[in-house]
Amino acid sequence: MIVSSAFAAKRYAVLGLARSGLTAVETLLASGAHVMAWDAREEPRQAFCARSHEESIELADPVTADISGYDGVIVSPGVPLNTHPIAEAARRQGVPVIGDIELFALARESLPAHRVVGITGTNGKSTTTSLVHHLLESAGVPTRVGGNIGVPVLGEEPLPEGGVYVLELSSYQIDLTRSLDCDVAALLNITPDHLDRYDGFEAYAASKARLFAMQAADRPAVFGTGDRETADIAEAEEARRVPGAVRRVDGSDLAALQPDWPSLQGPHNLQNAAVAVAIVEALGISAEQWQPALRTFSGLPHRMERVAEAGGVLYINDSKATNPASTAPALAAYPPAPAPRIHWILGGLPKGDNLDECVPYFGNVAAAYTIGDAGARFAEILAPYTEVHRSEMMAEAIREAMTRAVPGDVIMLSPACASFDQFRDYEARGLAFRQIVEALLESQGTDAEGMKH
Ligand code: ADP
Repeated sequence: MIVSSAFAAKRYAVLGLARSGLTAVETLLASGAHVMAWDAREEPRQAFCARSHEESIELADPVTADISGYDGVIVSPGVPLNTHPIAEAARRQGVPVIGDIELFALARESLPAHRVVGITGTNGKSTTTSLVHHLLESAGVPTRVGGNIGVPVLGEEPLPEGGVYVLELSSYQIDLTRSLDCDVAALLNITPDHLDRYDGFEAYAASKARLFAMQAADRPAVFGTGDRETADIAEAEEARRVPGAVRRVDGSDLAALQPDWPSLQGPHNLQNAAVAVAIVEALGISAEQWQPALRTFSGLPHRMERVAEAGGVLYINDSKATNPASTAPALAAYPPAPAPRIHWILGGLPKGDNLDECVPYFGNVAAAYTIGDAGARFAEILAPYTEVHRSEMMAEAIREAMTRAVPGDVIMLSPACASFDQFRDYEARGLAFRQIVEALLESQGTDAEGMKH
């Protein structure tokens, strides 16, 4: 766990005692701060109070309690600041609303000499974050990932001198961060998403831009190419930085190497790899070091994850594709050979009412199988282009796809939707896909690698 003298004798309120909130409480108490904490649920409140031997804790809701004079209110990135009353309560009392990443930023001065990479974007953050981690690790640099990737950074053991923290940052986390001066910051792309939490697309893009505004003018910044909003931020940053600090990468110089990267296929992964390479180069890693490491990257679960190959048919779990922009590259990754070969399972809780980003790749789809709330709408959109089955349920969709797929085809879950109508989260949805595929193959007397029993 990270402990810092920066918090000694300070006062913080923590709203929400889930994983990152609890970790913040631990760090603050161990660092000698006074902590007020609250959670809507009884159980975490009790667990907090059970620390009765600590004099520096207080159970109260910072929305209603007096927090004037506090050094900050720490909220989880899941709290919608545009509607939640904590925003107004904190503003009235002049207390900054921050997140655990800001605490990390404040703690940096007491950590051994290190560098921080911050990675944001609408899509590709986790892949790029874990790829940068892998490239650094392969080059022998001590490194850890943290942030939106699911590991609260404050809970990690501090790195030894020379280490690199690689942080995946969602726009919500950036909104809660004020002083993180990343040694290298990167923006992959910006497409409409999470618009329920922002006053429109511009405000969402402005949130991403703040990651760069927090950096000093001589720090490197890396930008993907492909959308207007990212290009605008890159241009604005170029104007305020020292020459050469801004790099825009489209991956064209790496395209010839891509066939050697088994877990980085598709045009989106070329973008992710290009951004990752530019980041590690900015940290001093040479081509001799990163080139072989791109080949050994094993990818992440639920992102174009190969779950089985049987009877010449490939089964791909891309459950993490929760919007049409992230599904589009998955469809692009399997062009006709020679006929369309993707059996596309899609649907769930829709983020919008169209599939516009996917339209250019409809020609790669042999048949579509719709599930969940979005099923009817998506079936209507797809009907003019391809054969559509209104499967409703995942198991039915997979079963129908298996009866139609021929050797060389790909059965792919890439839903373009959130999962919450039928599943706990995208991970549960991806796991269901895997388990059903394995069970159906098993019932045919085949295993996931296509071996007959
Ligand atoms: P994030 O962490 O930003 O959600 P991930 O790396 O987990 O991103 O990828 C999520 C999904 O987005 C993947 O399933 C993939 O299909 C798609 N994706 C990944 N990288 C990109 C990219 N650079 N551009 C567009 N879509 C992408």
